[in-house]
Amino acid sequence: MKYKKYPVSLVNSISRKKEEFKPAVDGYVGMYVCGPTVYSDVHLGNVRTFTSFDLIYRYFLFLGYKVRYVRNITDVGHLLNDEDSGEDKIAKKAKLENLEPMEIVQKYTNGFHQVMHLFNTLPPSIEPTATAHIIEQIEMVQKILKEGFAYEAKGSVYFDVEKYNKSYKYGSLSGRNIEDMISNTRELDGQDEKRNPLDFAIWKKAEDNHIMRWNSPWGLGFPGWHLECSVMSNKYLGEQFDIHGGGMDLKFPHHECEIAQNRISYDKDPIKYWIHTNMLTVNGKKMSKSEGNGFTPAELMTGDHPLLDQGFSPMTIRFFMLQAHYASTLDFSNDALRAAEKGYKKLMKSLLNLQGLNYEGRGKINEDLDKEIKATCELCFKNMSDDFNSAKTLANLFELSTKINAIKDGTIPLGEISKDTFDFLKETYNGFVESVLGLIPEEDNQSSHLDIAMEILMELRADAKRKKDYALTDKIRDELQKAGIKIMDGKDGKSSYIIE
Ligand code: AMP
Ligand code: ZN
Repeated sequence: MKYKKYPVSLVNSISRKKEEFKPAVDGYVGMYVCGPTVYSDVHLGNVRTFTSFDLIYRYFLFLGYKVRYVRNITDVGHLLNDEDSGEDKIAKKAKLENLEPMEIVQKYTNGFHQVMHLFNTLPPSIEPTATAHIIEQIEMVQKILKEGFAYEAKGSVYFDVEKYNKSYKYGSLSGRNIEDMISNTRELDGQDEKRNPLDFAIWKKAEDNHIMRWNSPWGLGFPGWHLECSVMSNKYLGEQFDIHGGGMDLKFPHHECEIAQNRISYDKDPIKYWIHTNMLTVNGKKMSKSEGNGFTPAELMTGDHPLLDQGFSPMTIRFFMLQAHYASTLDFSNDALRAAEKGYKKLMKSLLNLQGLNYEGRGKINEDLDKEIKATCELCFKNMSDDFNSAKTLANLFELSTKINAIKDGTIPLGEISKDTFDFLKETYNGFVESVLGLIPEEDNQSSHLDIAMEILMELRADAKRKKDYALTDKIRDELQKAGIKIMDGKDGKSSYIIE
């Protein structure tokens, strides 16, 4: 491994303590992160969570670990309000948009990938979907039934939380007390099937109008939301793996239920470290679709939203997010984004300055300066190894950036620092800015941004066409034509474009 010198420590959200990271297999990291439920456009809050895990993934890679990063796509089983009854989020959207559920899944998975690409997050090593693992999920339900920790009721199967809690502690991750929880649980639809309101569905009977359903030993149905992550993390990372992550809001019930399912199915807790990332807020409130305070990355870029004074570029937004430690809340504001824009540009300027510098010969080394630069480089590693503190690392990079600019304009003669320190400075600055923080010059991305923006526009136009809004379809075509972009409608209903 390249950088053994900087051992990682992280706050394990199950012990609530900072622990030294010791992987199950030396030199390898297995990381599972709960991905999106693909029933709508991702909002900026979702992007924050996936950017935080992208940072963690990138840092392990940078240190020289071999990382298997699994991030799932939830395409079935996530019911409205995270409950055990009611409509499936995807099926509901399919009805609304008059599409097949798998068209909804594909549409929003594509959109999610485009957004992830725009923010320069690396794709995971494996991106499994829940619907592709129905057989394994049925097998897990059978195992839990066989172990006696679940029961069947009217074609559904529920996990018996009260029984589980007698042998294991339910609620330890989220710090909840099961007795309090029982008294606080409100009446739920279909609750009569459950022996206890806290029990959760691991398999649900599909009512006649439920369109996403599969054959099972208990009749037609679909898996409970929490099951997929237990199944897929085990399948791709093994019975003991290093990191399981997700946003803070997933601790309960999702991760708590996952832990319970795992303990019974695998006879142990497979996860060594839990990492939970904190929320993006707007005026102190969690950004979410249901609050109506969520905006999409596209709105943020164009500035076309009541909360926005102007548009901001993806790298500015990425920088804004990395300025906060992943475990702190981050409040959205136009001023903070404007400051982030300046900060990002400053980093990029020094990146370019550094790339243009070549070490020439030796002058008289300024020992104090030499030591100072080396120490600041070391701090970049130490701070990032200390629970992935990108906020502190950015502060270190700014100190280096001042030095780089001074070298570039001749205020510090390059000969005053040793060749070793200069090499270390280059390796650290380039490595942290581009590879670890994933901040790259925006120009590099311009053509792919155009592709993405055009894809979004074409999708909007296709939507307008379906709704017979020909005024809008024509307007999009004509305005683009004026800007020198010609849209060509194909016979298959798909459109393409050329820049004239
Ligand atoms: P969902 O598609 O709703 O399951 O959410 C996908 C991921 O985004 C989950 O890990 C959530 O914890 C996370 N998430 C949702 N809202 C926010 C927010 N406001 N800030 C940060 N992460 C969020
Ligand atoms: Zn999950």
